Amino acid sequence: MDILSRTEIEKREYEWLAPYAMKSAETKGRQYKEKEHPYRSVYQRDRDRIVYSTAFRRLEYKTQVFVNHEGDYYRTRLTHTIEVAQIARTIARALRLNEELVEAIALAHDLGHTPFGHAGEDILASLMAKHGGFDHNTHGLRVVDFLEKRYAAFNGLNLTQEVRRGIIRHASPFDKKRSGDIKGAQLLEIQVVDIADEIAYDNHDLDDGLKSGLLTEKDFEGIQMWEEAVTSVEKKNLNVDEEIRRSQIIRHLIDVQVTDIVDNALKQINKLRINSLGCLSKTNTKKIVIFSEKMECKRSSLKKNLKKKLYEHYRVVRMANKAARFLKSLFEIYCDNPKQLQPQAFEKISTYGKYRAICDYLAGMTDRYALDQYKKFFEPYERV
Ligand code: MG
Repeated sequence: MDILSRTEIEKREYEWLAPYAMKSAETKGRQYKEKEHPYRSVYQRDRDRIVYSTAFRRLEYKTQVFVNHEGDYYRTRLTHTIEVAQIARTIARALRLNEELVEAIALAHDLGHTPFGHAGEDILASLMAKHGGFDHNTHGLRVVDFLEKRYAAFNGLNLTQEVRRGIIRHASPFDKKRSGDIKGAQLLEIQVVDIADEIAYDNHDLDDGLKSGLLTEKDFEGIQMWEEAVTSVEKKNLNVDEEIRRSQIIRHLIDVQVTDIVDNALKQINKLRINSLGCLSKTNTKKIVIFSEKMECKRSSLKKNLKKKLYEHYRVVRMANKAARFLKSLFEIYCDNPKQLQPQAFEKISTYGKYRAICDYLAGMTDRYALDQYKKFFEPYERV
């Protein structure tokens, strides 16, 4: 038997994938020309580059909602990323989309995240407001285009246009400067990762919130989607312990949402008569991979409750504020005297300017590295 070659994989995609799926043979390619691999598709190769990047490894010590040292069992940005990839691949496979492209985008989708979750992103955005701004999607593209150093011939990972588009998701001013072709309708593979991201974080934040004790089941009484999940679980599992009960409820919630997305996306595809990749451009910016109205409505009351009871919980607000204070102080002391930066970070000032170089350095930190840096600067007896 012969080895399954890249060209054979490319050929099989036309037999196996839907007509509206992105085929790896049709990639718009990479910025720097490279010889392609004998038995890995372009997107498999992108996925592997992402997994071996420094930014990917750092996801392990970056916060989702709970700051890293609050406990070992909460989601981190790495476990969140793996859950997004799992949900996105399930949806992609059911819809006969390009699972390898979806996996690469999912694994890369949060590479631009700062330490301390959205609190970190918000504070960097405000500190950088007059210096070109900051958001995690744009920064994610910056990470894979410039900041990762793994190849002699170029900076960054030299990913395909489709994966880059998936990382940026929404065209931003930064990206328009770099590449003219990042606009128009989104590939279905990109839309799948977007929705998988939402499903993953809503449900794992609910799970972590309950596990931490910041939320209780009582907080969700009267919320239709929650109550349906409870009823379904109680039908099958009577007298189970709290942990199993919670896992089963979360499992049910994810399953109904994924199933709704698959069914509804297929309905949209049929309704809009999408039977080729080209048809997607006719949909303009209308999203195809969306929840049914009924599910959207149920989700919105669950999400509202999660916001009120978890994201606005005084302890979560404290964690976020504390984190923002650390980062702001670090940003300010580095700006006051950039010579305090590590040499590798300092050198970048000549290329990117003081503010961007400091912002890149801070955005790349893990929670605990940022906390260590803070201690070095502000605790008199700490060694610098
Ligand atoms: Mg995410």
